[in-house]
Amino acid sequence: MQLSDRIQSLNGGGSNGWEIYERAQVLIREGKAVTMLTVGDHDIGTSPEILDEMYRAAKAGKTGYAAIPGTYELRQTVAKRVEATSGVATGIDNVLIVPGGQAGLFAAHFAVINPGDRALHIDPYYATYPGTLRAAGAVPVAVPAHAENGFQPLASDIAAQAPGAKSLLINSPNNPTGAVYSQSTMEAIAGVCQDHDLWLISDEVYEFQIWEGNHITPRALPEMAARTIVVNSLSKSHAMTGSRIGWVVADAPVIAELTELVTNTTYGVTGYIQQAAIFALNQGESVEAAVAEPFRRRRGLMQKLIAEQNVARLVPAQGAMYVMLDIRATGLSGKEFANQLIEEHLIAVMPGESFGAAAAGHIRIALTVEDSKLEDATRRLLAFATSHMG
Ligand code: PLP
Repeated sequence: MQLSDRIQSLNGGGSNGWEIYERAQVLIREGKAVTMLTVGDHDIGTSPEILDEMYRAAKAGKTGYAAIPGTYELRQTVAKRVEATSGVATGIDNVLIVPGGQAGLFAAHFAVINPGDRALHIDPYYATYPGTLRAAGAVPVAVPAHAENGFQPLASDIAAQAPGAKSLLINSPNNPTGAVYSQSTMEAIAGVCQDHDLWLISDEVYEFQIWEGNHITPRALPEMAARTIVVNSLSKSHAMTGSRIGWVVADAPVIAELTELVTNTTYGVTGYIQQAAIFALNQGESVEAAVAEPFRRRRGLMQKLIAEQNVARLVPAQGAMYVMLDIRATGLSGKEFANQLIEEHLIAVMPGESFGAAAAGHIRIALTVEDSKLEDATRRLLAFATSHMG
């Protein structure tokens, strides 16, 4: 039996970029003590208070089908939060609840892409982007952001690819680079979208993990609300990665059409998870700050450790829960570095190449293990890098 071309081409004939993560899982199953610095999964887990609310809601009967676009109360809670943080008028008709940001990214593209449309995204990018865009029927087009520009994309680079394109996907704070797009970068992006009539899809899942600068949502820029679709979730902000809960914010007609997509695909999100999401959001920003704090601290630790040597260079991270290291001085590619590091030292990091050509020669380290473990792994990683300096 023949599978569809579409499913077989999700990875564009290449890999999905998660090989090191998968290799680490095999080693762990074999009983090896691998230090996992790959995926963005918090070491603290979801708070007991949120879990209690989930359990309470399930026991109280929220175990049946939940309202398809999201419960009224959760949509209202999200709308209020988005309006308060962005200043853009937002009502429940602007909010669709989805099972995580990943589902939101797919839905947003599905809403605007016709089969074969070119969909732009910035490189370096979150590893799933090209596959997600292909799943929605798009031809993904990577627009490089450059290290020498702090990985802030340039309007000229986007404009060069914009003719005939349908959409642009951005992500600030950025995974993997940690770049937080400045006001001028966002305004330039908005300008290109207006000039070339592009939908702008803004992935803001690291909105509350910012160490330098401010989060700017492009939906709040003049004339941008109607063409911007924002994707967000509680995965990173509330350490709820496994609960699969997020949202899409857009103009009401977009949300109305997307509700049809949800009806015919996921059929909504678990009721007790939605109830826990309401509870989590109502705890206020101090909870998000507490969830973000270990990453802020560990970023400081990494700055200190990297400053002690001059083989690996730190890409200055302004936000998100990772740091990227430029390891080109070792003469190894990011892939070679990550492969050797896991086999020889049982330390799993992501090769930059998993995040696009613009991140080649780098590795990404997730700051998701306790400080002493991170320090130990980083020291061993740096010794490994130094040993490759001949
Ligand atoms: N977008 C970015 C930039 C991410 O890094 C991730 C997860 O790591 C996601 C989206 C997916 O998040 P979620 O767990 O909400 O699906």
